[in-house]
Amino acid sequence: MTATSTRAVSTEVVGPRSLYEEEHEQFRAMVAAFVEQHARPHAERWDQEGKVDRWLFTKAAEAGILGFSIPEEHGGGGSDDFRFNAIMGEELARNPVTSGMAGIALSNDIVIPYFTDLTDDDQKARWLPGIAAGELIVAVAMSEPGTGSDLAGIRTSAVRDGDDFIVTGSKIFISNGQNADLVVTAVRTGEDPHRGLSLLVIPTGSPGFSRGRKLDKVGLHAQDTSEIHFQGVRVPAANLLGPEGSGFFGLVRNLAQERLSIAAAAVASSEGVLERTLRYVKDRYAFGQPIGRFQNTRFEIADMVTAVRVSRSYIDDCLRRLGDGTLTAEDAAGAKYWTTEQYVDVVGRCLQLHGGYGYIREFRIARDYEDARITTIYGGTTEIMKEIVGRGLGL
Ligand SMILES: Cc1cc2nc3c(=O)[nH]c(=O)nc-3n(C[C@H](O)[C@H](O)[C@H](O)COP(=O)(O)OP(=O)(O)OC[C@H]3O[C@@H](n4cnc5c(N)ncnc54)[C@H](O)[C@@H]3O)c2cc1C
Repeated sequence: MTATSTRAVSTEVVGPRSLYEEEHEQFRAMVAAFVEQHARPHAERWDQEGKVDRWLFTKAAEAGILGFSIPEEHGGGGSDDFRFNAIMGEELARNPVTSGMAGIALSNDIVIPYFTDLTDDDQKARWLPGIAAGELIVAVAMSEPGTGSDLAGIRTSAVRDGDDFIVTGSKIFISNGQNADLVVTAVRTGEDPHRGLSLLVIPTGSPGFSRGRKLDKVGLHAQDTSEIHFQGVRVPAANLLGPEGSGFFGLVRNLAQERLSIAAAAVASSEGVLERTLRYVKDRYAFGQPIGRFQNTRFEIADMVTAVRVSRSYIDDCLRRLGDGTLTAEDAAGAKYWTTEQYVDVVGRCLQLHGGYGYIREFRIARDYEDARITTIYGGTTEIMKEIVGRGLGL
């Protein structure tokens, strides 16, 4: 067969998979239908406004795609199968319509577990029904202007005053910061770098709480990322998640799942970018032939598709191991940095194959390029992930 012969070529980048069952695929279709109906019509406006409308959360809850891991007795879906989270993240990443949906996925994968796993019965009764209904929007605030990777450097203080804490300090880069009603906040309650950290749920309606700037980012334009400030905010000690001083352990206990969710989305994003690029290089002509027929293009695509298929296989295995409780923090850290670095690489190379159109924002690849860049930074930078893997090897 010659290079110029016409033949049917599969545009399927993802090989066969055995991770999901019929119910997961139905859920994927539900997520896709929700995005088409409720998110696509508002995507451009959200990009311009830098945040989504609050009703997106209540609509998502009504549709069953927000809070499905919350126990049924508190109004949620009662699922403990993370494959539903993974398939939703994949759908949003592979067929991106608006980064505004990221706030819903972040709530499901990263913030809600604090509320389901670290709360006592009273706290569950107070917060879970509102979160499950999408009426209480949640965020988690660790990063501060002076510290991100190094959680021991957290300075926001919570000083005991009777049955309350008085909280003073600032947080930065907080996803959902503009819409949030409840912020799981890492605060310093003692001197010890780790044992002096606690987690407090701070209602944003409290006197002394204020929202700062909605930050102007390189990408993820519809997903708000904000500064928040606490000036002597009085918070009941009954809002502590776990015992005082257990904050560091509360933060790290869910990190494997958080990082795996970023990794699974990164692979799906790479797959989507490659599928769209494959279509593009078949349609775009130069020198009398589709640019996909140049050996360089073929090699580039073959190289990227193969690399992403290898990652897909590893991530599906990690998702299985998360399910059976054998996934380690080191596995998740390695998966996070590997897949996100790969995504950044793939999206840059695919943009190159789009030529000048790749640099124009009305083409999806330009937005993919913007949105990809943060993935090697948030949820723990590549360098910190490599530290975790290296230390796990006894180095
Ligand atoms: C869009 C977006 C959303 C975010 N959402 C949230 C959120 O919802 N909640 C939240 O709390 N935070 C959030 N973050 C913050 C994010 O998690 C941090 O930016 C990230 O952890 C890195 O911290 P930093 O920015 O302080 O970088 P720094 O820690 O200052 O790191 C700067 C550089 O130094 C390197 N470095 C640091 N320590 C080491 C080391 N030991 N060895 C080698 N290199 C090192 C880093 O890898 C990096 O390259 C978000 C950030 C963005 C941009």
